[in-house]
Amino acid sequence: MAFKIIASQCTQCGACEFECPSGAIKFKGEAYVIDPQKCTECKDAFDAQQCASVCPVEMTCVPA
Ligand code: SF4
Ligand code: SF4
Repeated sequence: MAFKIIASQCTQCGACEFECPSGAIKFKGEAYVIDPQKCTECKDAFDAQQCASVCPVEMTCVPA
C-alpha cells in the first residue's frame, strides 16, 4: 500500500517532500509524486501519514 498525490490539487509547496521518512516524494517533471515502491504509509515511523499531515490542501495526499 502507498499514498499518492492528487496533482491537480497540489500547490507544489514542497512541504511533504521533507517530512517523508521514506524519501518517497520527489519533484518529477512538473509535479510532486510519491514512489509507491518507497512509500511505507509511514508505518513504524509515525502514527499518521506525514505527507497528509503537513499538506495544506485537504485530501491531496491520499491512499492510492
Ligand atoms: S505516507 Fe509516509 S512514507 Fe508514504 S509518501 Fe507519505 S510521508 Fe512518505
Ligand atoms: S504538501 Fe501537499 S501541496 Fe505541498 S507539495 Fe506536497 S502534496 Fe503538494
